[in-house]
Amino acid sequence: MRKLPPPTDKPEVVFAACISKVRNPALKQSLISCTQEIIKDSQSFVRHAKRNTLHLISEKNVVGIGVSKEEMEKVYTDRMAKKTAPGRAYYDKLITIPKNGICPLCGHRIVQTLDHHLPKAHHPSLVVSPINLIPACSDCNKSKLNSRPTSPEEEPLHPYFDNIENDRWLYAEVIQDDPVAIRYFIDAPSHWDTIKTARVKNHFELLELSRLYSIQAATELADIKHRLRKLYRSSGSDAVRSQLLDSAESCGQQHLNYWKTAMYHALAQSDWYHNTGVNQ
Ligand SMILES: [Zn+2]
Repeated sequence: MRKLPPPTDKPEVVFAACISKVRNPALKQSLISCTQEIIKDSQSFVRHAKRNTLHLISEKNVVGIGVSKEEMEKVYTDRMAKKTAPGRAYYDKLITIPKNGICPLCGHRIVQTLDHHLPKAHHPSLVVSPINLIPACSDCNKSKLNSRPTSPEEEPLHPYFDNIENDRWLYAEVIQDDPVAIRYFIDAPSHWDTIKTARVKNHFELLELSRLYSIQAATELADIKHRLRKLYRSSGSDAVRSQLLDSAESCGQQHLNYWKTAMYHALAQSDWYHNTGVNQ
């Protein structure tokens, strides 16, 4: 998971923009009555996110003076996410936070939507709160849909609050087969506590990142095969190993826990690959 800078737009400002075109006076009044609760619940969200206790926030069915969760969901769907919606500028602002449009949750696919970190079906007062909206790819968004954490260990990682980018935790191993394959796994640094380690492992499993990265690695292996075989024949296995280490270092400059970084480190450390795998 990649860290993102937290959004700075206030939830009440986004909410006011979203409901600015509501014509029905009674509905408009009901929605306006939600504002203080939206502010309070967003502040509570931040406090809980910092303490890793978001799972303790109670679910709700009603906001303000009787706005149902279905009506609040429609505020997000019709008045923020739609292309011509009055709150769409805030949606677009959030979706463009990640560098190069890459999903922060998988670090690989393209951002296509906003993921409600606490689901909109259970937390209607947070449907348009920027701090609860994470730019994500469709697959990560779907995988997280039914996740209902009940403990700190089960809490999904949050790109605005969690930072796991400075430690190396993603590793890979070479599967000695024809064609050669790569298996990914997590090896948590010793200074991480058990909760952090469990959260990263859950994140990895929930989003099926091992499978995603192994599939990408298979394509990358096929792409480099010809070049490395030529290098082996002209200069030997040490030259292959040196080239793989260069690639690992180069990818690691970009992201320490990038699937390519882990793959090239694993290949560089595999004597079998330098001598046999590269010639298959
Ligand atoms: Zn993703």
